Amino acid sequence: MDSRADPSAAPATEPGAAPAAGPGAFATRAIHAGGGPEPATGAVVQPLYLSTTYAMDSPGVTRGAYDYARAGNPNRSALEATLAELEGADAAHAVSSGMAAVTAVFSALLAPGDSVVVPRDVYGGTVRLLEDEYARWGITIIPADIADPAALAAALAAGPALVWVETPSNPSLEIIDIAATARAAHAAGALLAVDNTFATPYLQQPLGLGADVVVHSTTKFCGGHSDVVGGAVLVKDHGELPAGAQAGARIDRWTASAGVGSAPFDAWLTARGLKTLAVRMERHCDSALRVARWLRAHPQVAEVRYPGLPDHPQHELAAAQMRGFGGIVTFRAASEAIALRAAERVRVFALAESLGGVESLFDHAATMTHLCLRGTELEVGPDVIRLSIGLEDPADLIADLTAALAD
Ligand SMILES: *Cc1c(COP(=O)(O)O)cnc(C)c1O
Repeated sequence: MDSRADPSAAPATEPGAAPAAGPGAFATRAIHAGGGPEPATGAVVQPLYLSTTYAMDSPGVTRGAYDYARAGNPNRSALEATLAELEGADAAHAVSSGMAAVTAVFSALLAPGDSVVVPRDVYGGTVRLLEDEYARWGITIIPADIADPAALAAALAAGPALVWVETPSNPSLEIIDIAATARAAHAAGALLAVDNTFATPYLQQPLGLGADVVVHSTTKFCGGHSDVVGGAVLVKDHGELPAGAQAGARIDRWTASAGVGSAPFDAWLTARGLKTLAVRMERHCDSALRVARWLRAHPQVAEVRYPGLPDHPQHELAAAQMRGFGGIVTFRAASEAIALRAAERVRVFALAESLGGVESLFDHAATMTHLCLRGTELEVGPDVIRLSIGLEDPADLIADLTAALAD
């Protein structure tokens, strides 16, 4: 019971204990799930616990939940409580980067001889990790167009241990049906992992749609201020597969053993970012739709990709699966020269990789984020621009693009 829900009710917790996260809307839970005022001092914001070790009351008897900070620290715990609450997870693990989160999933859940189905336009770091590192350990990749049920069925016939999904994808913003993919994967005995970085738990909750594992690069929208690199792994056991029941414990053991847990200040910054996730995502989505509509009417723009536009091929699926359409807009300029000239001209947008921060970013994908795909079948065209729409006034963003795309 949450005493905040009914002011006349007696406090449900002992004085000094952090109040339990109460029910309520997403925005409320994002602010309160990590705990209330700090018991000892009343500090409304959790202090930063830099201590690497925690005094015991007697040999082997810890005072609280902590003994050594690699295994756990209060700032990491608060962040994990918030993430688990917002994603509807059984458990959350906050780690040092998005790639540490991806590594945790592969290392904890795969064994030599296993295979993984990955979408064709999966995040470059994820496929590089599989090719450069896990191939040496006898793990194989099955690339597939997961959005196509026949292609997914063919990939599942090979008996993979894991299906990996990213939706919306990067940079083409394709949408994959998470519930249908979870059903197909489970029927084939495979677990489903979803990289939810682009959507965040505010817009999309894959565990509720049947996914077993969610990963985040919290560096992006969850942190939201371009000032901390981090990642998270979230798990939920749907009781359908033995591997699902083991996934949580395996990831727990692996992250503690490997020492990839989030450092106190990183966790603190990410937790601060999550408190404003709901309002930030509303504004990201609203401004992104305005910019996408404006771009579509521009004579120097050949094509606009944004799941919120009715002509996006999976607009209906996105509308059903997501609360909003996200802060990323991808477009093709009328030529490579126009794309490159715009990249040199933007002033409000920063010409930079990454995404999801308060400041808008302009990415010429072929020479920046997706350079490593050059010469492969996944190569991104030289006219493709990915915009991360920040929290500036959208009129200023449109004015900047107007000047950048002018003849
Ligand atoms: C950035 C990103 C990652 C990797 O995260 P890092 O925090 O940079 O390690 C993984 N997946 C997606 C979709 C990303 O955008």
